[in-house]
Amino acid sequence: MPTTTPAHPDQAHRPDRDPHTPVGLPEGIDAAAEVARATAGGGEVAHYIAPLAAVDPSRFALVATELDGTEHHVGDVDEPFAIQSISKIFSLVLALRAADQEGFGVEDELWCRVGREPSGDPFNSLVQLERERGIPRNPMINAGAIVVDDVLLDHLDDPVAATRALLSELCGEEVGLDPEVLEAERGASHRNRSLAHLMADFGNLNHDLETVLDSYIGACAIRMTSRQLARAARFLANDGMDPVTGRQVLAAPLARRVNAVMLTCGTYDAAGEFAFSVGLPCKSGVAGAILAIAPDRLAACTWSPPLDGAGNSVAGRIALHELAERCGLSVF
Ligand code: GLN
Repeated sequence: MPTTTPAHPDQAHRPDRDPHTPVGLPEGIDAAAEVARATAGGGEVAHYIAPLAAVDPSRFALVATELDGTEHHVGDVDEPFAIQSISKIFSLVLALRAADQEGFGVEDELWCRVGREPSGDPFNSLVQLERERGIPRNPMINAGAIVVDDVLLDHLDDPVAATRALLSELCGEEVGLDPEVLEAERGASHRNRSLAHLMADFGNLNHDLETVLDSYIGACAIRMTSRQLARAARFLANDGMDPVTGRQVLAAPLARRVNAVMLTCGTYDAAGEFAFSVGLPCKSGVAGAILAIAPDRLAACTWSPPLDGAGNSVAGRIALHELAERCGLSVF
C-alpha cells in the first residue's frame, strides 16, 4: 500500500517562489516558457486534420499584450497557424453584436438555440446533441459554433469575410486563410457534417447545411500568429472596447458574457481544470493555440501543437498556469 498520495502532474511545475509576491510580466513570461516547453512531449499533435499532423511539435510561443500595447513574448510568436476553435469566440462576438444592433429578441433567440453550460464531453461529441434535442450545450464546442454560424447567416452575406475583417482590424494586420487546412477540413468533416445533420433534423438549422458548414470550416482555417491573436483579443480585457482605436467592439455586458462562456466552456471538458489551475477565461484550438484574457490587464496567447486528451495544448496550459501564478493574473 502506498503511504503517500501521488503528486498531481502540476505539482512538478510549482513555481519556486513566494506565491503572494507577483513578479513582472517579462520575468513571468520567460519563467513560464521555460517550465512549459519541457512538458510538450506529454501530448500529441492533432492527426485528424492532415496539415496539423505535419507541424513540428517543438514549436512554442507565449505572448502577453497589455492594454497599452506593450508586448512581452518568447518563442515563435510570428509563426502563423490555423486558429481553429479560437474562431468560435469571434463568431460569437459577431452574433452578439448583430443581436445588440437588432434588439434583445435576437439575443434571446440565440440563447434558445445554443446553451451556455459546460458540456463535460469532447468538443465534437454527438451524444449530448441527441439527448438534448439538437440544442448544443454552448457556443465553444463544434455543434454550438455551427449554430452560431447559422445565426450569422441571418445577418451577414459572408461570415468568414466578416470574421477576417474584424480580426484584421483588431490586430492591425491583414488576416488570411490557410488553404491546406481549409481543403483538408472540407474533405474530412464527417463528424461536423453529422452534428449539422442532427441539428437540422431537430429544426435547429435554418440555412443550407453546406453553406453553414462552409462558414464554420472557413473560420477554423483563419491563419494568424500568436502575437496577432493576443492583440486582437484585448478588447475582451477592456470591457469590449478596442484599446487602440477606442471603438466599442462589443457592449461591455456582452463582452463579460463572452469571457464567462470562455471560462466555463472554452477548453471543453477541461474547463474546470483550467479555471482551477489558470483562473482566466481561455479558448483553445486543435492547432495548439490557447488564448487567455486577464480582465483590465492583458490578453495572452500561447502556441504549442501537442494536445492532451481533451484537445488542449499540454504546454500551453502549463504556460498559462505558470504565467497566471507568477504574475498574479487569476480572476479569482
Ligand atoms: N476545425 C476543428 C474541428 O471542427 C476545430 C476543433 C478545435 O479546434 N477544437 O474539429
